[in-house]
Amino acid sequence: MALFFVGGNWKCNGTKESIAKLVSELNSAKLESDVGCNSIYFLDVVVSPPFVYLDQVIGSISNGIEVSGQNSWIGKGGAFTGEISAEQLSDIGCKWVIHGHSERRHILGEANDFIGKKSAYALEKGLGVIACVGEKLEEREAGKTFDVVFEQLKAFAEAISGWDNVVIAYEPVWAIGTGKVATPQQAQEVHAAIRKWLTDNASTEVASKTRIIYGGSVNGANSSELAKQADIDGFLVGGASLKGAEFATIINSVT
Ligand code: 13P
Repeated sequence: MALFFVGGNWKCNGTKESIAKLVSELNSAKLESDVGCNSIYFLDVVVSPPFVYLDQVIGSISNGIEVSGQNSWIGKGGAFTGEISAEQLSDIGCKWVIHGHSERRHILGEANDFIGKKSAYALEKGLGVIACVGEKLEEREAGKTFDVVFEQLKAFAEAISGWDNVVIAYEPVWAIGTGKVATPQQAQEVHAAIRKWLTDNASTEVASKTRIIYGGSVNGANSSELAKQADIDGFLVGGASLKGAEFATIINSVT
């Protein structure tokens, strides 16, 4: 049984008004598979608004769509100005959190071990983690894609106590926000390698159960070809998730 996952990462976008409009579009979108539970497919759909709009979205979203934070602190809350704890995300009704996004790795300088620890804490507190990995263009061109991705996976693996509740998002940095989507073959090659890595470093059960989703310039026109690939179990969508109708098209392309 397929177990697809489509996430919308809204990043640092939106206003109260634009977000109310987007939520209302998503609430009324016709999702071909019942989100959450369907006799043929199970499909998780998750949106990740900026922190200040989480409560607004949690209070207004329906259609079975769950809500994710875009980050969470490494441990229990306290004197950590500007941070949000995993407990706080759970408290307001978030089910997921994103960790290891390339914008946090490369703009904010988050390192592998810090990301691993934050993920472990969030999992311990009951959140699902969308664990992002992906290589930069120069790393791909130097033939280092697998080395980089495996090193990032290893840091997650060393910190967490299991892969239940983890969705792995492969997001090549060169494809994010650039309009330069990975070809279905390029994405499939890395997804298959990630699954093999899970077999070798966790178990065959973990490898078959863990969703490996693709992110990087996914849109309503390219999602169905990508979704046909054997090891692509869904998407993490940036720009195109800010448009309700297009995000619904992407969701429906995986079913
Ligand atoms: P884009 O879909 O805008 O390329 O962003 C992808 C992404 O970073 C999702 O987390």
